[in-house]
Amino acid sequence: MEQLELFDLAPDFRSHKKFKNRIFREKAELELELRQQGRDEIVYVLSFGGGTQSAHLLEQHLQGRIHYDYIIFSDTGAEPQFIHEQVEWWRARQRSFGNKTPFIIARHSIMKGGLEEMLMRWILTDYQRFQMPVYCSTLDQQTGEIKPAGMMPRQCTVDFKIIPVKQAARRMVMEKLGLEYRQKMPDHIGFIIDIGFSYDEIRRINTDQSPQFKYMRLAYPLVEENLTTSDSIRFLEENNFPMRRSRCYLCPFNCDGARDIGMDWEEIIESEPLSFLKACWFDDKLREVQKTGTKIMRSIPYLHYSRQPLKEVYPSDYTRIREANGIELEEWAIEWTACIKENHGLR
Ligand code: SF4
Repeated sequence: MEQLELFDLAPDFRSHKKFKNRIFREKAELELELRQQGRDEIVYVLSFGGGTQSAHLLEQHLQGRIHYDYIIFSDTGAEPQFIHEQVEWWRARQRSFGNKTPFIIARHSIMKGGLEEMLMRWILTDYQRFQMPVYCSTLDQQTGEIKPAGMMPRQCTVDFKIIPVKQAARRMVMEKLGLEYRQKMPDHIGFIIDIGFSYDEIRRINTDQSPQFKYMRLAYPLVEENLTTSDSIRFLEENNFPMRRSRCYLCPFNCDGARDIGMDWEEIIESEPLSFLKACWFDDKLREVQKTGTKIMRSIPYLHYSRQPLKEVYPSDYTRIREANGIELEEWAIEWTACIKENHGLR
């Protein structure tokens, strides 16, 4: 309620309780703090998501308004192809500027196949850690009624997007210094990693201190500019830049018919039918495995917010795509099974 009232007023991050409570601070203050700790050499990193808001920051970098030493895109292994194409578009734009800032593609350090690998591992092995924000239902044992039961925590953004960026930044600096990744970071080096959250996403900010690396701080320049997601989209539109929203093809935050915000299942169905089929496959498998009782997950998981099987939300699309792409889906599942067997062993 407090937040809704706030959005009726002109955005001002300084009035927000998260800023007042020092959950996050301005970039200038983070820089000062690092320097006071003797970390005079600050490495500036853009965590690039390939979508709209971090593209806004990348453009500011290309225009010479923000300095970055590294631009790092973390591949979650489940972005739609159109996001990879958008990333390539930005790389080409960077080249057209003659901008030489290293542009790095990072991945999860253990599961190089990203979220697909995590899910396949969960489905096919005894692996218990489930890192996606799926919608949950519970079965009332007495009445037999199935009731909504919240969502699983969203751990995937941290594990598959933010941590790989930090690790890649660390690796680049250690290599430059001729040090091994595992060695201690020299005391005079600090990092500031820019995250492309917008003012309307302040709720997603939990800290400006990296929990993994004490010499890394997290900054939110769009929030400091009081820019909202719509402001970034408008900026991209006015400049004729690509505007697809970055997310995984199976992300539970996809909506129905939300083309205006660009996070909808229809976009996946139209642009990448096979990915939609994979999402339906995962959605079914998650419940199938959860039902066996071998997982610590007690609730029934769904990718769609209605808590219905995804294929039943879009029945005619599912049937059509299943007919057209069913063989490719089976080949993909066979390939993954072989890969999981080799890397993790099957249950
Ligand atoms: S886009 Fe969705 S599924 Fe992908 S990392 Fe973010 S929250 Fe997780």
